[in-house]
Amino acid sequence: MSGKIAIVGAGPSGCFLAQALLKAAPGLEVDLIDRLPVPYGLVRYGVAADHQGTKAVSRQFARVFERQGAQFFGNVTLGADVTLETLRAAYDAVVLAAGLSQDRPLAIPGGDLPGVHGAGTLTRALYDHPDACALPDLGPRPLIVGNGNVAIDLLRLLAKTPEEMTGSDLGAGPGEWLAGSGIEEITITGRSPAAQAKFDTVMIKELAKLAGVSIRVIGAGASDDPVEQKKIEAVQALDGIATGPRRITFRFGLTPLAVEGETSAEAVRFATDQDEEVLSCSSVLTAIGFGPAGDLPRDALLADARDAEAGALAPGLYATGWFRRGPRGTIPENRADAQALAARILDDLKSDPDKPGRAILADLAEAVDYTGWTRIDAHETEAAPEGRCRAKIATRAEMLRRARQEERPK
Ligand SMILES: Cc1cc2nc3c(=O)[nH]c(=O)nc-3n(C[C@H](O)[C@H](O)[C@H](O)COP(=O)(O)OP(=O)(O)OC[C@H]3O[C@@H](n4cnc5c(N)ncnc54)[C@H](O)[C@@H]3O)c2cc1C
Repeated sequence: MSGKIAIVGAGPSGCFLAQALLKAAPGLEVDLIDRLPVPYGLVRYGVAADHQGTKAVSRQFARVFERQGAQFFGNVTLGADVTLETLRAAYDAVVLAAGLSQDRPLAIPGGDLPGVHGAGTLTRALYDHPDACALPDLGPRPLIVGNGNVAIDLLRLLAKTPEEMTGSDLGAGPGEWLAGSGIEEITITGRSPAAQAKFDTVMIKELAKLAGVSIRVIGAGASDDPVEQKKIEAVQALDGIATGPRRITFRFGLTPLAVEGETSAEAVRFATDQDEEVLSCSSVLTAIGFGPAGDLPRDALLADARDAEAGALAPGLYATGWFRRGPRGTIPENRADAQALAARILDDLKSDPDKPGRAILADLAEAVDYTGWTRIDAHETEAAPEGRCRAKIATRAEMLRRARQEERPK
């Protein structure tokens, strides 16, 4: 079978989709387009620096380029370097796998005060994303709103000692920032009771190994449901752990009503079962989900979709991964999604030999191909200092220089 398919987004969903398409139909031309000069999306810029085992999935993705023949067009932004209309005219099928990168705002009074930071913004800065803002001063007592896996990741990273980051790919700047953060206490709050908290039990159990913390768990409750009770027991087992001075407090059943503070976040007022409670803090970290970046008309596309559930937006236009489903699900969950969509695309596909496909991208002088990425990758791995597995390049300009093997300007 022949045909030209452009996938926008070289994160897990895009890579799993390319893998499934090329497995079923090796004759296809499959191009993965990404706004970053580097592939793998949140595997590189979301998955925690100390979870290298999870990042190993990128070796599987590498084979999609190296063995299955997919092509990478990095540093190409849909909406800026190429329009959706142009792509749709050039390819037999276009798939949007662009993820959801914006932190959902904390839509309560004071939710936009200085000192309120989204988990995505913070993790991008921690993981040296080239478009990230500077790491903020969180003060001695950050408070986390939300207790899903992203919140637990953040808690663990803020709580770890520098020695506990050995083997990670945390950069030198973020490493210094963490080591010098002066954090004394982290409070983590969830709206639901512990029984229905969004975190995975395995993430909670990992916290029991932290080397420098004292943990309190308040109001974990109990449940008749055995699955819920397991979750409660996991978090309850943390209560009383005392391996060091950094205090962690888990709170449940707290619905944020307002962030309070004169000029920056100083406290959060919550509704409880009975009443209201104010918890003071030096900053607020929100981990309450993600939304679209605004450069693609996601809502309109999904609203008008002919079969949004299957990812079929319009003839020859599809969506997958977080971009389609919303900000839920782990990396492996995107595989099932991608496999189902690949079958649908192949069913629908009508190959038009007159379509130019990747030829329309040939003029984009700043695009980075897979070889360019392997140069960046090799440099980052070779430059890793002792105790780190990689030294990420943090700027686009330097990435482009490495990709092209250019000398550094003197
Ligand atoms: C902080 C955090 C930690 C996580 N940790 C884990 C974990 O430990 N384990 C786990 O299994 N899951 C984890 N997840 C979930 C996992 O990352 C997602 O399931 C997965 O990344 C979703 O894949 P995706 O391809 O849909 O989106 P993404 O990974 O976001 O990939 C989207 C890609 O599209 C590109 N893109 C966006 N807009 C454009 C555009 N206009 N033009 C071109 N390209 C564009 C982006 O640069 C990106 O590379 C985590 C998520 C977050 C946010």
